[in-house]
Amino acid sequence: MKGISARARRLPPSTTLKMTQMAREMRAQGKDVISLSIGEPDFRTPQAIIDAGKKALDEGLTHYAPSLGIPELREEIARKMREENKVDVSADNILVTVAKHGIFMASQSIVQHTDEVVLPDPGWVSYSAISIFSGAKRVDLASREEEGFIPTEEDIKEAVNEKTKLFVINTPTNPTGAMYPRKTLKIIADLAEDYDFYVLSDEIYEKLVYRGKHVSIASLGNMHERTVTLNGFSKAYAMTGWRIGWLSGPEDIIQVINKLQQQTITCVPPFIQKAALTALRECAPEIEKMRKEFNRRRIAAIGKIGEMTVMDALKPHGAFYIFPRYHADVNSFDLAEYLLRDYGVAVTPGGAFGVSGEGYIRISYANSMGNIMEGLNRIEKGIGSL
Ligand code: GLU
Repeated sequence: MKGISARARRLPPSTTLKMTQMAREMRAQGKDVISLSIGEPDFRTPQAIIDAGKKALDEGLTHYAPSLGIPELREEIARKMREENKVDVSADNILVTVAKHGIFMASQSIVQHTDEVVLPDPGWVSYSAISIFSGAKRVDLASREEEGFIPTEEDIKEAVNEKTKLFVINTPTNPTGAMYPRKTLKIIADLAEDYDFYVLSDEIYEKLVYRGKHVSIASLGNMHERTVTLNGFSKAYAMTGWRIGWLSGPEDIIQVINKLQQQTITCVPPFIQKAALTALRECAPEIEKMRKEFNRRRIAAIGKIGEMTVMDALKPHGAFYIFPRYHADVNSFDLAEYLLRDYGVAVTPGGAFGVSGEGYIRISYANSMGNIMEGLNRIEKGIGSL
């Protein structure tokens, strides 16, 4: 047996999904487990979206769709990007895809083994896994709690050079909830021109902002010529299981990525695209309701953590995560396992988000207020008894 490829061997499992699966299995065994691990809204998908999906199924939209996406959805996304994000695009710049697969396809299309990719550290678990798969050299750009988890100008400059091909940003940020100010985005944009690299901007948490304003890097100067923006329906519209999002970028890159889409998943199912169209057209009030509820939980959870001695946390301004530093001499992976096993609460170990995340845990407040409060009680007790 010759075995699997070296790059497949190097690929780590997704810690966010692993922790959630462990919690699921414990629950199936009858154990009382609260999951504050995964970033998944606990709300139902708004009814209008479900109805639109059902209607499309009844109308027979159960065959292939165009690989780039159905024209009316691409038009609607382009309109949204122009009006809300101030990015100069048309439907030709849009590819409808599964959001996470979009990150994979964009990275594989832009970088190869001779290139360098700059990744946020701490940053979402799959950026590093995906870049490992491309064979490119990964450069971790640290952000520190003292700086509000925003990378400094000095560190950004240090991270790039002639070999930099792709710079990944994610604002609002998973796992810290930080939001990159315009100033930071401008620094990255200027360097992108100087060193001629692309930016992959993951804006999946765009609608979950509690303070300040989200800025799309593609709206700055000529950045739309070198930025691929990722967005999707999972987080804002409580549509994680529908698996739909989009890439917006320069037409030539979108065409290349479309080839990869054709050769892999073909297209996003058409009835799901119809449902997403309704989400964009009709569901602004519902998503605002969810955002308000997330905000209420954020304030309550931060308040509660503030009263604890076992950990402390910066107030996040976006997404639905809190990233507290804990006060115990144990690594974050062991701590997460111990909290789940002995205290029935799942969190994501900070170390899974990169070396700068070690010493932290990620708590998702995309759960009911009752579960968040009880989960925090368990974390407090667990860390307190170490
Ligand atoms: N992005 C979410 C998280 O960080 C969902 C799981 C995943 O795709 O990693 O929890």
